[in-house]
Amino acid sequence: MDVDDEAGRILREVFGYPQFRGEQREIIGHLTAGADALVLMPTGGGKSLCYQIPALVRRGMGVVVSPLIALMQDQVAALQEAGVRAAALNSAMSWPEVQETERQARAGELDLLYVAPERLLTERCLSLLDRCSLALFAIDEAHCVSQWGHDFRPEYLQLAVLAERYRSVPRIALTATADIATRKEMIERLRLHEPRVFIASFDRPNIRYRIAEKDNPRQQLLRFIRDEHAGESGIVYCLARASVEETADFLVRQGIDALPYHAGLDSGTREDNQRRFIRDDGLVMVATLAFGMGIDKPDVRFVVHLDLPKSVEGYYQETGRAGRDGLPADAWMVYGLQDVVQQRRMIDQSEASADYKRTATAKLDALLGLCETTQCRRVRLLDYFGEAAAPCANCDNCVERPEEWDGTVAAQKLLSCIARCESATGFSFGAQHIIDILRGKRTAKVEQFRHDRLSTFGIGADLEVAQWRALVRQLVMLRLIHIDTERYSVLRLTAACREVLRGERTIRLRRAIDRSTSRPGSRSVDRTRVTAAQAARVLLSEGSWGAADENTHTLLFQALRAWRLQVAREHGVPAYTVFHDSTLEEIARRRPGSTHELRAVSGVGAIKLERYGAGILEILAQSRLHSFGQPAD
Ligand code: ADP
Ligand code: ZN
Repeated sequence: MDVDDEAGRILREVFGYPQFRGEQREIIGHLTAGADALVLMPTGGGKSLCYQIPALVRRGMGVVVSPLIALMQDQVAALQEAGVRAAALNSAMSWPEVQETERQARAGELDLLYVAPERLLTERCLSLLDRCSLALFAIDEAHCVSQWGHDFRPEYLQLAVLAERYRSVPRIALTATADIATRKEMIERLRLHEPRVFIASFDRPNIRYRIAEKDNPRQQLLRFIRDEHAGESGIVYCLARASVEETADFLVRQGIDALPYHAGLDSGTREDNQRRFIRDDGLVMVATLAFGMGIDKPDVRFVVHLDLPKSVEGYYQETGRAGRDGLPADAWMVYGLQDVVQQRRMIDQSEASADYKRTATAKLDALLGLCETTQCRRVRLLDYFGEAAAPCANCDNCVERPEEWDGTVAAQKLLSCIARCESATGFSFGAQHIIDILRGKRTAKVEQFRHDRLSTFGIGADLEVAQWRALVRQLVMLRLIHIDTERYSVLRLTAACREVLRGERTIRLRRAIDRSTSRPGSRSVDRTRVTAAQAARVLLSEGSWGAADENTHTLLFQALRAWRLQVAREHGVPAYTVFHDSTLEEIARRRPGSTHELRAVSGVGAIKLERYGAGILEILAQSRLHSFGQPAD
């Protein structure tokens, strides 16, 4: 048997994909030949096939170690939908279920078995595996062995026993964590045997990165969702529990299906909300950073940050949850001066060591650099992970190059205003007050301190408040101003500002553009969520069939999604396990007329064709009736 052919056949027949992605073929070949591997691939890169296919090609059962019980069931359901003999063993199952699964494993009736690490390490489970024929071990989220990482799980360290006990069974460790120290730790601690290391590019070309000025964030968010993502699934990250609750409430009041998720909710509600988000179409999850690890929902169309993440790694990991299916997705963030102040304060006021604070500050600075850059965001992001790239044409800065302006004079005004206030009163002041003085506003505070008599009073009326705030933010980033978070967040000058005041240094700045409105090329058709019944009605009614191709496509896509949601509910599985959005998009675009043509669509495997082929072809037939068969009167 030619292994490559066999792997290719399974890819097409079982998973319904025409070709391998990236290094999948090499990884599969390597593992199938019986050797160990370490795979670093970004979220959505296609790690699962790297062990699922070898498990099917090799004799025996593949054992997948995965830390998240809540999500295991969905992975198993997705495989079963494709006709793979998969099962899980975990603490959420009843005793008879466990016994039945163990029996199947012993009888050689399983291709893949998913187990949580703590379960795998029990003597009961290990002796079960002793009696099974094993194809391989796959250790997912392998970075959990790293004691320095944020996902450390002590049980992962004990997985090293597999190396001894099952010497001849190949092992593959997989993660989306990129850094080099963790790479070494995984190999050592899991005792991988001379593993080949596969490192994929960390670029996620289908994600469009956009970072805008914060200005009434809730309205900005509402506009963003309504204009660009109506009826689609997305995640909105906020820093605090209270803002999670408020934002979710706000969206619901505006008619958007949204749910909250944070550590303060009881675990039942949390699980329910997570489950609904994964299973249903078009829910918005408003969450703290507690949400997201291991969520492999492929059709998350947007990830929003309403507050600054803590680091570029964090930003990359969180935004990486968008668009795993490869279709266009948005990573959209708004941020402002207040965010910078807040993050600085959190660092300054933490009890951590000076060393930690220095690292945290450096990480925050790198993130602010990403926010303020006028260059391609992707180039900047990948550079952070040591990867070179060319400008991407798919980030806000590439789509519309932001203007730079010479901010030297404005910076001088701002800096000298801070200096004058201080020398006149002996106190420092916050950004708002300094900006009021510059713009010549006679507030109570200005009058109290007689700051209207300063020579800098009113010298900055030419710039808007928002522009001044942006300037403060950027000067903080350039370390020309220090925000003293211990004392009411007052602004202080740093030694470096002298060069600017003396005119020895020019300051070039990013001009604020309001990008919160619709992006160029955004979909013109409203994709409001429809139920199956509504979709059918749309199909049967006059509508705009054939009026414009884009319209027809969208209507058909909606109808297919509505059909899928209903099927998924009937089967009790997440919608995406029936078909991915990318598959439905392709069906809507190609409009296959026969089973044979349908089979050629990426994501339609043999079993799915058998199960769903007729249903889909019927929807397509109806649509044809209405697009072409209308009486011409
Ligand atoms: P990861 O675990 O790396 O985050 P997954 O294994 O969940 O990624 O794969 C991400 C998505 O890409 C899934 O929806 C998967 O079905 C799809 N996919 C993987 N490999 C291919 C391929 N060769 N062709 C088309 N789609 C693929
Ligand atoms: Zn770019």
